[in-house]
Amino acid sequence: MLERFLRYVRVDTQAAEGAAAYPSTAAQLDLSRMLAAELRQIGLDDVELTGHGYVFATLPGAPGAPVVGLIAHVDTTPEAPGAGVSPIVHEDYAGAPIVLPGDPSQVLDPDEEPELAARHGHDIVTSDGATLLGADDKAGVAEIMAAVAYLAAHPHPAHATVRVAFTVDEEVGRGTLHFDLDAFGADVAYTLDGSGIGEIEVETFSARAMKVTIRGRGAHPGSAKGRLVNAVKLAADFVASLPRDTLSPETTEGREGFIHPSRVHGSVEDAVVNLIVRDHDDAKLEQHTELVRRLAARIEEREPRARVTVESVDSYHNMRSVIDRHPRVVAAAEEAIRRAGVEPVRSIIRGGTDGAVLSARGLPTPNIFTGGQNYHSLREWASVQDMAAAAATVVELARVWAEAET
Ligand SMILES: [Zn+2]
Repeated sequence: MLERFLRYVRVDTQAAEGAAAYPSTAAQLDLSRMLAAELRQIGLDDVELTGHGYVFATLPGAPGAPVVGLIAHVDTTPEAPGAGVSPIVHEDYAGAPIVLPGDPSQVLDPDEEPELAARHGHDIVTSDGATLLGADDKAGVAEIMAAVAYLAAHPHPAHATVRVAFTVDEEVGRGTLHFDLDAFGADVAYTLDGSGIGEIEVETFSARAMKVTIRGRGAHPGSAKGRLVNAVKLAADFVASLPRDTLSPETTEGREGFIHPSRVHGSVEDAVVNLIVRDHDDAKLEQHTELVRRLAARIEEREPRARVTVESVDSYHNMRSVIDRHPRVVAAAEEAIRRAGVEPVRSIIRGGTDGAVLSARGLPTPNIFTGGQNYHSLREWASVQDMAAAAATVVELARVWAEAET
């Protein structure tokens, strides 16, 4: 698994925001092609690189057992440099701060990171500090690859039929845009995408993107008296009217939702404020959305010459309600995690996953831990031992699903 991981992270698969093409960067296909070739080499059936860059493959197993889908994404985030990754394995970690040699200002400090402090004796993989590591989500990719290679070589005890899917453009919110559920053909599925050892994530945010457009009235500033309506100032007023001490990403945690202005651009004539709105509770998501609409309407109330429009698009939906209807999906994962020697922990995600979208489309898809940490940061790291536990969990999961329903 480690050998595969170190190879995959060296391939630049950084996604790009706002690209017209799919996938957003052609480089992602380099890894997709590599994975398809390796899956054929391992001996999987139906290996396919789709026109959209997804890799699908089948590992046949016990007839009659549910088909188990395993999903990870090949792309990395555009939020930090992702090309030219030079991974370093810090063997037998002794507990001191890890200074990354490519940028000595990047330090992994066990005093600030209890997860790292708890990994004495582990082998820790980092980048050299100049780039991401790309464990998000190549840890998941390497774990699935290692697990199916192991299962192909060890057909006993029996395992369920496994369908593998590697997706693209997850990091720019389009990971399942062209994901064909019928072609995938899984009865249940799991993403392997982040989170700490033993975790199975069964709950995501429900998410909405909002856009407030403010039209002002331009005039030459030298003769603007009584005529100019400055959209820049109205946008600033609107942003200032949003909640600050509550309902903000920087002041909330756990299941608390937020309204987050993520981008402002504009001029005197018109200004646009983009926001994301999040909550685990759908009723509260509606309340947050209403609040944005009310505050936007207040702009026009105070300046009737301005024109304000509000757009709202649902991004993804909390998968909890779907997962709750399929208790065996979570129970099987917990059993597999236990068999891999780890205590399972149910947790929630303050974000979304490809699994949230697939769950909404009818395929229950919780997320299983990968052992990666500090995602989207130059200080991203992964414990080889935790990654191995994740790969072992996948092996056990395929076996659990081949056993008679209890
Ligand atoms: Zn990810």
